[in-house]
Amino acid sequence: NPALSPDTVRTTCPYCGVGCGVLATPGDDGTVAIAGDPDHPANFGRLCSKGSALGETVHLDGRLLEPQIDGRAASWDSALDLVASRFSTAIREHGPDSVAFYVSGQLLTEDYYVANKLMKGFIGSANIDTNSRLCMSSSVAGHMRAFGSDTVPGTYEDLELADLIVLTGSNLAWCHPVLYQRIAAAKVKRPQMRVVLIDPRRTMTADIADMHLQIRPDADTALFVGLLGFLAEQSALNKAYIAQYTTGFEAALAIASPCDLETISIKTGIAPDQLLAFFTLFARTERCVTVYSQGVNQSASGTDKVNAIINCHLATGRIGRPGMGPFSVTGQPNAMGGREVGGLANMLASHMQIENAGHRRLVQDFWASPTMATKAGLKAVDLFKAVGDGRIKALWIMATNPADSMPEADLVAKALKTCPFVVVSDINANTDTTAYAHVLLPAAGWGEKDGTVTNSERRISRQRPFLTLPGEAKPDWWIITEVAKRMGFATAFAYQNPAQIFAEHAALSGTENDGSRDFNIAAHAAISATGYDALSPFQWPQSQRSGSSGGRFFAGGAFFTPDRRARFIAVHPVDTVTIDQRFTLNTGRVRDHWHTMTRTGKSARLSAHFAEPFAEIHPLDAAERGIADASLVKLHNDHGNIIVRALLTDRQIRGSVFVPMHWTNQFSGSARVDILVTSRTDPVSGQPALKMAKVDIRPF
Ligand code: SF4
Repeated sequence: NPALSPDTVRTTCPYCGVGCGVLATPGDDGTVAIAGDPDHPANFGRLCSKGSALGETVHLDGRLLEPQIDGRAASWDSALDLVASRFSTAIREHGPDSVAFYVSGQLLTEDYYVANKLMKGFIGSANIDTNSRLCMSSSVAGHMRAFGSDTVPGTYEDLELADLIVLTGSNLAWCHPVLYQRIAAAKVKRPQMRVVLIDPRRTMTADIADMHLQIRPDADTALFVGLLGFLAEQSALNKAYIAQYTTGFEAALAIASPCDLETISIKTGIAPDQLLAFFTLFARTERCVTVYSQGVNQSASGTDKVNAIINCHLATGRIGRPGMGPFSVTGQPNAMGGREVGGLANMLASHMQIENAGHRRLVQDFWASPTMATKAGLKAVDLFKAVGDGRIKALWIMATNPADSMPEADLVAKALKTCPFVVVSDINANTDTTAYAHVLLPAAGWGEKDGTVTNSERRISRQRPFLTLPGEAKPDWWIITEVAKRMGFATAFAYQNPAQIFAEHAALSGTENDGSRDFNIAAHAAISATGYDALSPFQWPQSQRSGSSGGRFFAGGAFFTPDRRARFIAVHPVDTVTIDQRFTLNTGRVRDHWHTMTRTGKSARLSAHFAEPFAEIHPLDAAERGIADASLVKLHNDHGNIIVRALLTDRQIRGSVFVPMHWTNQFSGSARVDILVTSRTDPVSGQPALKMAKVDIRPF
């Protein structure tokens, strides 16, 4: 590769969990030239439309550039003093569980680490949860149940080495475009590669698929339980792997057998001949990766779906070897980094368990913390319910927009309005959430931030700054530590830079406890600021244990359960055949926007892809309701209503409607789709069923 300009900075894209390397070159005229980093192992120089347009989104229009108290400009000292004092008062008067942090997969790992340390180790509550709860917590829970740890077994390279890629609940072409490009390129090189798409919608990802199974919403468990039964009947099991490395197979198989294609067809909506074709292809193809994303996770049975998928890979021993494995791809740029440092209310730092007394003791000793959370905190949906019913007296929201993105978003907005004290750290002055803040804290944005992120294949990369901090904006880690110091914890939060936080995180990861956690990044515990600056992308963990190689896990067993065996989970399919005549509301991304558009909405090029929100409806459903293409329609249920434009397409399955999740009051006054979304959650993971609300539709 040609030498880089001295002004070019290697950094990482702030959008999806692919975690592409980016070369950013700021110009003298304030512009930033963006290119893919040819040396980054996630993308090898590729970028998608969102990544390519990053330079168009770094201007300062709409930025929050100074602290504010009750809508008026304030000094950092007065804002930080007020935050520390109001949190301390709430804790003193109502106990540690009367306060909460709601954080974000947009935070860098170092930000996440100090927020988690402050809440769990110094405030003494675990009321810190993250918008990653909405994204991948069912995958975390499924990994924990099967593997004893939240470990993604494979690497991106497996997607190029596989002979069969099963994409389930994943519109990879739009949501993880560079991974889609890598698969497309591999398929050109190896035309024998087969791709199966399992999705109620015929998304753009179908363009690469040899087979599309237009499954009934939420029927994934029925499909993969059926597949397990088929594999057993076809003698396609890896009995040696099952016997040597797993437990619980018989109980899982008892639910799956016998494999009755007619019954599975009724449950899934997939024709028996298509089921047979897919099951046969899976049974015969050794090198197989099953990629899953929000279509699996965002469900009241998401964790069971994840385990139904993992069961099939354990039963065939197709895990942790080149081109094989179950593969959860995360939505956000640093959901995985947040998982590493305990950003979820039910986790501790370094993948340790909050319910495990030994883990709690270890972390408390390491932090020298005065008071340690002893139980899991409130998960996102319950956290905002607690805000609404007055249990939470002080709430700090960082880098996320829950007034739009949470299910039943109007209730969340109402809860924020009644909360006695709301702090919002953000880069934007006007979001639907900042409107409820008593204190607004201006945070650093992409291009200004300095730290690390972890992508879907556990690869840790640097986000490096190449722009000066605008106005009075500060990094999130600095803001959190300044509040911690003012709450009386100066010694434990005396960091001078993010390198020191990363080094502490690395040291904690290598702290031995019960001997089961020899996976860590402790080699970086003594990293210097210079070493941190120069850090090249690498995978978590770095230490190799028996049974892992090439950055992969579990080919030779060595799971993180007490008996070192994987657990089959006996999952029961949910009833998907409903007599409810209303539509199933499916929400998701479009190609060129991100979350609530606070960044991508700044790019005219990105906004041109879809200029306005829409509802995809099957033409026959539309005809029955007198809905014309491109007309306005009203979607409504008990939670509220939205008005969007009808987009008639047979890409949509009958009885379902798809509405993108991006549009907010800021961009459209009538299309906040999450006001309609149910707050029903998965009982294991607490992840809400963001794709399973029921709505009526009529012409507007
Ligand atoms: Fe960024 Fe994801 Fe696109 Fe890569 S694929 S450039 S990480 S949005």
